[in-house]
Amino acid sequence: MIPLVDLQAQHERIRDEVEAAALRVLRSGRYASGPEVEAFEQEFARHCGTAHAVGVNSGTSALQVALTAAGVGAGDEVITVPFTFVATVEAIRQTGADVRFVDVEPRSLTMDPAALEQAVTRRTRAIVPVHLYGQPADMDPILEFARRHRLIVAEDAAQAHGARYRQQRTGGLGNLGCFSFYPTKNLSAAGEGGIVVTDDPELDRGARRLRSWGAADACGHGAPGGNYRMDELQAAILRVKLQHLDWWTRARQAVARRYDALLARIVETPAVMPYAAHAYNVYAIRSPRRDAIRDALRAAGVETAVHYPVPIHLQPPYADLGYGSGAFEQAERAAREVLSLPIYPELSEDGQGEVVNAARQAAGAAS
Ligand SMILES: *Cc1c(COP(=O)(O)O)cnc(C)c1O
Repeated sequence: MIPLVDLQAQHERIRDEVEAAALRVLRSGRYASGPEVEAFEQEFARHCGTAHAVGVNSGTSALQVALTAAGVGAGDEVITVPFTFVATVEAIRQTGADVRFVDVEPRSLTMDPAALEQAVTRRTRAIVPVHLYGQPADMDPILEFARRHRLIVAEDAAQAHGARYRQQRTGGLGNLGCFSFYPTKNLSAAGEGGIVVTDDPELDRGARRLRSWGAADACGHGAPGGNYRMDELQAAILRVKLQHLDWWTRARQAVARRYDALLARIVETPAVMPYAAHAYNVYAIRSPRRDAIRDALRAAGVETAVHYPVPIHLQPPYADLGYGSGAFEQAERAAREVLSLPIYPELSEDGQGEVVNAARQAAGAAS
């Protein structure tokens, strides 16, 4: 059986370092808001090329805290895409703001910058582009549009640790960058985690206050907030794993290149845009016969997933946004056609060969 991701294989290779870091925290008696979180924040900011980073307890919290720190709230509108994980949209809603969607561009499946003009209103306050599957959205035209309309840009980089847009790391491109360390992400905690990165000292201060009950210092509570804190155990483990991220990214890219070559004539392989260094959190092929291919792969012992089967605007909790079927043609077509294959740095060539053989047979049988 070939799994979609294999975290045991990851742990096996870095076990001593990770377990030593965890033990260090357990024995320190310091479990929250301590030196590990502080050190990880500095190390992750350096990795992204930003001045600041604020560790939080999930990617969803990162998005919510980032937008709230930027002043987004009730009465504002935030523009994002309907073809994403539901957390992108739910985090926007948790700030009190209203969500407006624009469609994705059909090749990259990321935000179509040309669609922004129709979605902007006097109430628009921010844009949340999603670096879907690990490929950066086309940030130059998005940032240009945001400057022209004086909008905040908060990147949803939850799937894009280690990716680059024109040489620059994701997260540091907009006003704020938001990452998740959920176990399936390219850099993952042994549990939950997230982080907000920014160059802006005001946004850094705002995010820091919000993650911990609005406290500006030990006793003052100058602003609203909640408990969105990262814990020391996760930070210590993430510090170890961050040192491996670059080679993991290169290994993912090598796996993707092999899939590209082996699958090119069978299915539509993922497009890599000229501006992108793709980090391949997800390797998603496309085929109109997706469901048949998926069934055949399952029968052959290959685990797959669909990221994502229903665009957000067609999910019941978001019906009140007023977008019906047909509103976002590219997102809806992608939802019918994408299929995520196993990808992780430790996936062997033999394992990949099994996936490809099964896909080849499945595509043949399904045609
Ligand atoms: C995983 C993910 C999130 C949410 O991160 P959590 O840590 O699970 O809260 C948000 N956006 C995208 C695109 C994601 O993939």
